[in-house]
Amino acid sequence: MNPKKITLRLFALLTFASWPFAQAFAQQAQDARPAAAAPTVTCASLMSLSLPNTQILSATEMTTPVAYCNVVGVIDKRVSQQDPDHFTYGIGFELNLPDTWTGRFEMQGGGGTDGSLANPTGFFGTELSAGWAVAADDGGHEDAPGNPLLGWIDDDANAGGTAHFGVDEQARIDYGYNGIEQTTLISKAIIGKYYGSAPQYSYLCGCSNGGRDAMVASQRVPDFFDGIVAGNPGFDLPRAGVAEAWNEVQLAPLATSTDSNGQPYVGDTFQSQDLEVASAAILSACDALDGLVDGIIDNYSACTDERVYPALEAYTCSPTGSNGNTPHGGTCLTAGQVTALKRIFAGAFNSHGQRLYSSWFWDAGIWDPPSAFGAGFALWNVGFPGPPSPTNTAINLTLGAGAIPMVFTTPPVVTPVDGTDSQEGFIFNYNFDTDAPKIYATAPGYRESAMDFMTAIQLMVFNHADLRPFARRGGKIIIYDSVDDGIFSAVDLVNWYNSLLPLRPGPDGGAQSFARMYLIPNMAHCGGGPATNSFNANMLAALTSWVEAGDAPGPIIAANTNTTSPFPSGAPFDPRVAQNFPTGGTRPLCPYPEQSRYTGSGATNDAANFVCINPKGTQPGGRALVGSN
Ligand code: CA
Repeated sequence: MNPKKITLRLFALLTFASWPFAQAFAQQAQDARPAAAAPTVTCASLMSLSLPNTQILSATEMTTPVAYCNVVGVIDKRVSQQDPDHFTYGIGFELNLPDTWTGRFEMQGGGGTDGSLANPTGFFGTELSAGWAVAADDGGHEDAPGNPLLGWIDDDANAGGTAHFGVDEQARIDYGYNGIEQTTLISKAIIGKYYGSAPQYSYLCGCSNGGRDAMVASQRVPDFFDGIVAGNPGFDLPRAGVAEAWNEVQLAPLATSTDSNGQPYVGDTFQSQDLEVASAAILSACDALDGLVDGIIDNYSACTDERVYPALEAYTCSPTGSNGNTPHGGTCLTAGQVTALKRIFAGAFNSHGQRLYSSWFWDAGIWDPPSAFGAGFALWNVGFPGPPSPTNTAINLTLGAGAIPMVFTTPPVVTPVDGTDSQEGFIFNYNFDTDAPKIYATAPGYRESAMDFMTAIQLMVFNHADLRPFARRGGKIIIYDSVDDGIFSAVDLVNWYNSLLPLRPGPDGGAQSFARMYLIPNMAHCGGGPATNSFNANMLAALTSWVEAGDAPGPIIAANTNTTSPFPSGAPFDPRVAQNFPTGGTRPLCPYPEQSRYTGSGATNDAANFVCINPKGTQPGGRALVGSN
């Protein structure tokens, strides 16, 4: 990077990091808002709206957090002939219309396998209060207890549980993309009737499956949204599902007991103190690569297997080792644990050595300290911490085990939630040669594969994700992800980002003109973890300023709200980890491929003392470019 660019970067960061500037930034975004509008008809009158294939079930004036009209309805309500249970399905939706409207509309993405409505107030929590119209849908099916206004439930414990909807082709498609699209169309129509004008700016924001919703929509319906935030996106979810099965199969040999379904109990294979040791080992290899020993591996792209494997070796329990020989003693890992970690972080393969899912970045967030617990590595793969339980609680074996056979596999493999032939058994007996290809399969009655209806890579052109239509009309997308998400590999996302069309010469490939990505070390899935993971207000301001004022986002300031370091001040960690962790302070999140670096002086919990640099000499994404596809 040339000195002039560094100076500009420094200036941009230092000024942005100061609060007066941040306030000015927010004010600028506010100034870009259209004038406030008021309803032209009553809330109650929306009950009699005539909309295609849509019933309005309620329209109620509400007063908190602001005065607004709450609309609940259903699109395409039907009784399934394909579902052996002949359940009722439909796209349940909820739309909140503030009395003082700024002209903004936001569709909120869902979570998990969806299945519920939750009175949307905005993905970042403040949008409805700030005068945005906000909508959400249930993904086309209802989980127990169900919404009383809708009046149906689509769960069947003997056939997929909450993933039962996977037996119905249309319900799969509604979950994959159609629920978001239909709800957006109907919401915009209702907004037009209610305020007498269309939204000036339309947004779609979500995390996890909601991040998937957002990335899918940017490609499938590029005209629907002006601005998108996709957090921890499951944009490649069926393949991540294969990796969920892969990870559990790697953990199974470490199990010493069986669970209530007769399957390997993995809840104690990596206890909290074991993951603490793993985190310390990874930090010992990579923390200093960014120039500051602080518990955060900002130079994640340089934290390769070649660096981490010797560290794991050094922390392996051994009679002659420097870290003791006591399994689960909080100082070392067993050889079996180290083998499992290596196999999990390498990604999923079939027996022919063909890669089925990408590798993962090594990251200190593999351990969620008790004071900063989140849905990280442990909760997805191992389960909730605590005493041995007869029931597996790893999300891979609950949510994942429901969705993988029922939704990601075609035709669906109908599995009961519990019992000897349970969905857990499907995971532990997953055949990576014969089951994995079924994420790409179609079948009579199921005309779209899971990769077709669920992913943001189905519109790839010559192996490049095609966001040209979205970019051409001026759409802007901000993507963020945890370096070590527990379920979706950031390496997979980096590969996707690096494949974006349009491509132009230069390190950013031209993608930065409409798509910016932020990778957050140590954060768990959609939040939590020993991380600077509090950034909602700044990210929302960055989005609206980009869309409405043309100000492309640079560093986004994120805070750590813990008042004490989540890392202990001593063993197994370097004492500098706790000293330099940004306790109660801020750090910049940098637009990929840039990474955060300490300037060398000043407090380590103040973003003003950090800059974003492009790590020359390292390949963007580290191992990311090796064999993912
Ligand atoms: Ca560091």
